[in-house]
Amino acid sequence: MKKAYAEGILVIITQGLRTVAEQNALYEQGRTKPGKVVTNACGGYSYHNFGLAFDFCIYDIIGGKFIPNWQVDKRWIRVGAIGKSLGLEWGGDWTDFKDYPHFQYTFGLSLQKLRGGSKLPMVEGKEAQKYRLMTGTFANKQKAEQAAEKLKKTFGWIVYVKEA
Ligand SMILES: [Zn+2]
Repeated sequence: MKKAYAEGILVIITQGLRTVAEQNALYEQGRTKPGKVVTNACGGYSYHNFGLAFDFCIYDIIGGKFIPNWQVDKRWIRVGAIGKSLGLEWGGDWTDFKDYPHFQYTFGLSLQKLRGGSKLPMVEGKEAQKYRLMTGTFANKQKAEQAAEKLKKTFGWIVYVKEA
């Protein structure tokens, strides 16, 4: 966004993490529900479902108003190139289904592996063991596990419970 802005291109992030239920609803659009087909992926078959993808849009400021511009033009191609220079994979490069607003970073993990519960390398890697995030102490293990579950559900964090 910063690099594009420096070139006078205004970018907004329109979506990041998408739950499996949200993905399924989006999949029905243009199929069993009105609208244009915007995805070929149903729930669990998109990197969005694992927080590894985001969509963007170019916008213009016209008369002081933010106007999204979904028409793919040379600015979209430029933002795709900027994202790729940062190591992201761009949906505009796909041949079967061009997805210009889409970027993803997969850590080399297939969707099949992610569906099977594979963790991201930065969670399992050596670096992850260097620092510990302390969240507090609890009167019993059950309460601690409930808090860990809540953090997992709310933020997607993996929290380990250890006897103090
Ligand atoms: Zn996307």
